[in-house]
Amino acid sequence: MTSHSISPIDLRDLRLDDARALLEHGGASDLPAPEAAPTAYLQGVIDGLCELSLTDPLTGLANRRHFRAVLAREIEVVVRSGNPALLLMLDIDRFKAINDAHGHLAGDRVLQAAARCLAACVRPQDTVARYGGEEFAIVLPDCQLNYGEAVAERIRQAVASLSIEVAPGLALQITLSVGGAFAPTKTRYTPDLWVERADNQLYQAKAQGRNRVYIDHQQVISVSPEEKSLLFGALSTGEPAWGENIPGTEENSAMQKVNP
Ligand code: GH3
Ligand code: MG
Ligand code: MG
Repeated sequence: MTSHSISPIDLRDLRLDDARALLEHGGASDLPAPEAAPTAYLQGVIDGLCELSLTDPLTGLANRRHFRAVLAREIEVVVRSGNPALLLMLDIDRFKAINDAHGHLAGDRVLQAAARCLAACVRPQDTVARYGGEEFAIVLPDCQLNYGEAVAERIRQAVASLSIEVAPGLALQITLSVGGAFAPTKTRYTPDLWVERADNQLYQAKAQGRNRVYIDHQQVISVSPEEKSLLFGALSTGEPAWGENIPGTEENSAMQKVNP
């Protein structure tokens, strides 16, 4: 039997100063003193960096990297459990006009207020992310099909009812458009495909006039050859497989619209 000895790491050999400065700049003040508790200190630095790498600095929401990880995990959960999950993509309407009229700082305040509102609208198990610019995404695990519109509509209304003070005496109101897609439960598929389906609904919401919700309830989807090779790789044989067109798709597909 061999015994493995773990050589202790000397913190002085690691370049931790920049990481520590970054964390302290971001408000992390609870790092223990390195000399007193070296392991706890190193763990604190690692945890802090992980947190930073997953968070959008302007809004404090999950960033796109975090969102992608949550989405990939949720796909696995849905395929195993069969419980429906909903992805919402949300985009502030005519946001550029706010920047143009009131300046970028006012735009930033609007983004922060919208982010707080979205986070307050959802359950602890839901993930709200800043997808980029003035676009947000929400992953809602265990969301029944008939709740989809109600959830998205509640969020749309909550944002529309905000009065956002961007400067003393200047309050702005905004609206957003929402596109949603339920995760297919009988098909293995990629995060990109789920995002694309929700994005298509968002596009519809924009095209139909903005400030509205479109949800795709389709739970059986077809997978393109590119998706199929990504998913199944060398296993892909050309035979009909899990994830290909399944008879009845059209009947199962229901695109629904909710207008304000
Ligand atoms: P639509 O209703 O079609 O979505 O129109 P829109 O004006 O919201 O969309 P568009 O894509 O034309 O403009 C988005 C703007 O968001 C342009 C960009 O300068 C601004 N933006 C992106 N990121 C930030 C940010 O972090 N802060 C601020 N203030 N503005 C941002
Ligand atoms: Mg927009
Ligand atoms: Mg946009």
